[in-house]
Amino acid sequence: MTTLMALKEKDTHMNRKPLQEYEFWFLVGSQSLYGPQTLDKVAQQSQIMANGLDASRDIPCKVVYKATLKTPEEIEKWIKEANYDDGCAGIIVWMHTFSPSKMWINGLSLLQKPYCHLHTQFNRNIPDQGIDMDFMNLNQSAHGDREHGFIATRMQLKRKIVVGYWEDEDVQQGIGKWMRSAVGAIESKKLKLVRFGDNMRNVAVTEGDKVGTQMQLGWQVNTWGVGDLIKELDKVTEADIDKQMAIYHDLYEFGSGDLETIRYQGREEIAMKRFLEREGAQAFSNTFEDLQEMRQLPGLASQDLMRQGYGYGGEGDWKVSAMTSLIKRMTEGMDGGTSFMEDYTYDLEKGKELSLGSHMLEICPSISREKATIEVHELGIGGKEPPARLVFEGHPGDAVLASLIDMGGRLRLIVQNIEVVTPIYKMPNLPVARVMWRPEPDLKTGSHLWILAGGAHHATLSYDADSVMLEDWCEIMGIEYVHISKETTVSSLKQQLFLSDIAWKLR
Ligand code: MN
Repeated sequence: MTTLMALKEKDTHMNRKPLQEYEFWFLVGSQSLYGPQTLDKVAQQSQIMANGLDASRDIPCKVVYKATLKTPEEIEKWIKEANYDDGCAGIIVWMHTFSPSKMWINGLSLLQKPYCHLHTQFNRNIPDQGIDMDFMNLNQSAHGDREHGFIATRMQLKRKIVVGYWEDEDVQQGIGKWMRSAVGAIESKKLKLVRFGDNMRNVAVTEGDKVGTQMQLGWQVNTWGVGDLIKELDKVTEADIDKQMAIYHDLYEFGSGDLETIRYQGREEIAMKRFLEREGAQAFSNTFEDLQEMRQLPGLASQDLMRQGYGYGGEGDWKVSAMTSLIKRMTEGMDGGTSFMEDYTYDLEKGKELSLGSHMLEICPSISREKATIEVHELGIGGKEPPARLVFEGHPGDAVLASLIDMGGRLRLIVQNIEVVTPIYKMPNLPVARVMWRPEPDLKTGSHLWILAGGAHHATLSYDADSVMLEDWCEIMGIEYVHISKETTVSSLKQQLFLSDIAWKLR
C-alpha cells in the first residue's frame, strides 16, 4: 500500500478545487411562533451539530450552519443564495422543530443544488426526568421532518434521506458519501473532455449523443484533429523529457525496453497534459486507428495521466473517460484506486469462474498491488512502433464496475459489484496490466445480467466508489441507474428493464 500512497501524493493534476473546500449549507427549519428563547436554542444547537459534522473524519467537505429558517421569504432567500454560490455543493436540511412545509414550496421549487434531508435530533436519548413540555417544543424532528418529507415527495423532488443520530458513524458516513456524489454532480456540470481523433470505426457502444449528454450531465465533449496534438509533441524539449523521466524513475520500476521508446511516451504525456490544461479539460480519449504521425500509441503516457486524476477512454470512448474522471474526483483522498477497464477474457473453471480485465495498454497504476514496471512490447495492432507501458497486477478487494450507455434519448449507468482477487496465474507473456475478478452474483449470471442491461465492454473499475454513491449521483443527474448485485436475478432484471423502458418513454 505504500506504493499506492506514494502514487496518490504525487497527484499534481489540474487546477481543481480540493474536495474539502466545497461547502454544504446546513439549513434548519422552524417557524416564528416558538418565540425568541426557543429559536435561540435551535440556532445554538444547530451550530454545535454543524461544527460536529464538519469535524468528522467521515465527512470530506465543509458543513456550514447558515440559518434557522422561519418564513417563506427566508427560505427562498437562502435557497437562491445556495444556487448562485459556486462554493456551495449542496444543502442539508433538518427540522429541529416543526416547520409548516407550505412555507418551503416557493423556495424548494427554485432549488438547483443537491439536496439532503437529514432526519436526526440533537439529543440521542429521551431525558427521563428532563422531558417536559419545553423539551417537547424544542425537540420535534420526529414529526417536523415528516411534514418536510411530505412536501418534498409531493413536489417530486430528488433528495438524499439520511436517518439516525447525527454523531453516529454510519450517519456521518452516509452524509459523507452523499457529499461525494453531490460534488460529482457539480463537477459533472463543468467537465470538459478532449477527443484526440474520433471514434474507432464501426464500434457502437462508444458512440452517443453528445448534445443530449451535455444537456443532461453538462459534459463538453469536443474533438481535435491528431495533427493539433502532433504540433504540441514537436514543442516538447529534451529537457522537458528529462524531468518526466525523473518522475517515472521515482514511481516505477524500469524493465525491458530501450530508453528512447520510454522517452517518447514522456514526450506524449507532456504534450497531452499541456493540451488538456490549455483546454481546461479533465478527461480525454484517443484511438489506435487514428494516430497519424505519432510513433507510438500512448500507453505509459495515458496511464500516468490517469494516475494524476485524468479520465481516459480507448477507441474514442468519451463516456467511460468522463466517468473515470468524475469517479476519481468523487473519491478524492481515498486510496483503493480507480481505472479505465475492459473485460478481456474468462477463466471458465466450473464453479470458480473469473474474468480477466485489462486493455491494450491503458490501465491506471492507482489500482496496482505493487510497484508497476515499465516494459516495451509489440502491440500487434495499428502498425506503429512497440509502445512503452506499465505492467502490474490489480490488488484484491471489493470494487465496482460502472458503465454509462446511451439508450437513445436517455442515459443508463450500469453498476456491478465485483470481488477483485489476486490473479491465479502468473501470465508471464501477457505484456499488459491485469486484474482478475468475480462479478456478483457469479460470473455466469453476472455476465448474463451485464449483457442483458446493455453494459459496454469498457467500464470504470473503482475500489473507492460504491453502488450507493453512484446511485445517488444518477439520481441527482436524473439518469437511469441499474445495479447488478448478489440479489439480482435474470427475471428480476428483465422486469426492471421492461418497466423502466416504459417509464422513461413517458417522461
Ligand atoms: Mn477497448
